[in-house]
Amino acid sequence: MGRDLFRPPDPLPVSEWAARFFHIDKTSPSPGLYDPTTTPWINAILDEYPDPNLTQIVLRASAQSSKTQPAIICLAWAIANDPGPAMWVTAAGDEVRTFAKTRLRDSFAHTPPVSALLDQLGRSDDNLTEINFRTMPLILNGANSPTKLQSKPERYLFLDKVRDWPEGALEMVEKRTTFWLGLHKVLIFSTPKTKGDAFDIRYEDGDQREYHVPCPTCGTRGPLLWQHLKWDTDDVTRPGGVYHFRRLFETIRYEFPCCKTTIQDDQIKRVRLAREGTWVPTNLKASPGKRSYTWNALLAPRIPWSLLIEEFLKSKQSYKEGVLKPLQDFMNQRLAQVWDEGQLVNWSKPKHAYELKGARPNDVAAYRFLTVDVQIDHFFYVVRDWFVDGSSRLIAYVPLPSMINAL
Ligand SMILES: [Zn+2]
Repeated sequence: MGRDLFRPPDPLPVSEWAARFFHIDKTSPSPGLYDPTTTPWINAILDEYPDPNLTQIVLRASAQSSKTQPAIICLAWAIANDPGPAMWVTAAGDEVRTFAKTRLRDSFAHTPPVSALLDQLGRSDDNLTEINFRTMPLILNGANSPTKLQSKPERYLFLDKVRDWPEGALEMVEKRTTFWLGLHKVLIFSTPKTKGDAFDIRYEDGDQREYHVPCPTCGTRGPLLWQHLKWDTDDVTRPGGVYHFRRLFETIRYEFPCCKTTIQDDQIKRVRLAREGTWVPTNLKASPGKRSYTWNALLAPRIPWSLLIEEFLKSKQSYKEGVLKPLQDFMNQRLAQVWDEGQLVNWSKPKHAYELKGARPNDVAAYRFLTVDVQIDHFFYVVRDWFVDGSSRLIAYVPLPSMINAL
């Protein structure tokens, strides 16, 4: 045991260590030995994890685009190479037990440097809230069990789905590292939710790295952004106002803003883009110990762009019908963007509204309606007064610098 504890960390970069030893569990679309070419954007995240100066790492990413996998690999690496008490916390207790059973145990059992350290109790399927290694314990908790979050000092924290945690839980669990201060590492990974929530604050605190990919023609680098994904809306793709998705999908292309080069949703081209990308920090004022990364579903070659566009158009339709949630989910889960309620509230204070000096400026209207319309790339609203005789007066017409526009 003493030998295991004081063994120096494996000098291999973590991504290479993973390619040699780490087994991806059976629930993944690509199970088996870790292949660093499949999700190349996570390699740098893995390789920087052991940096002793790094104490807080935040991954703000879209759903199903490999944001949990780097956390599992970092945990396995720490168990095998630089052990210390660790806790994995996700939103709910029953969820973390399922996760341990279906993902962690499979990966650990087939990753030789980790399975060699599992003690007998750790191999048992009975206990899914603690996995014991000869060198360290791993505790698994739900953020909905506050008493468990306050238990023991931890060197490593892996904090999953933080967007769905109860208020105050993140602050509570972060205090577990006080004993290990300076040697501790907190990895927080989630899709985002609301501007200003605990997860958003942690992301903003970091250096906010974006994954920049090169334009295939001129080499200009930048992140893949929603506003550059194009499709045709015309009589062919939307006959009679109803989307004909098969035809619309044929028009999908990503347009690089530098020189207007376009690429279609081609797996080989998208994989090449992802492999040629690099992380670029955008917040140079961050503390050197705090790093944050963000990427959206456009980057993950496994997620078809057509799926994203169909989801977006349907969520926009729901929004028009007064149902907000699908659009919010799309922003959070696919574009990895926070939902900014403030932009909705501010609609009551238009900056550029104009008044119509109508023929009846002094009449008292019977009703005043505010109508919001969501266009392809912007919002606008109209305020109109209606009089008892059926006539109306335009009060305000305001195009908005919208969230949609900023995507
Ligand atoms: Zn270009």
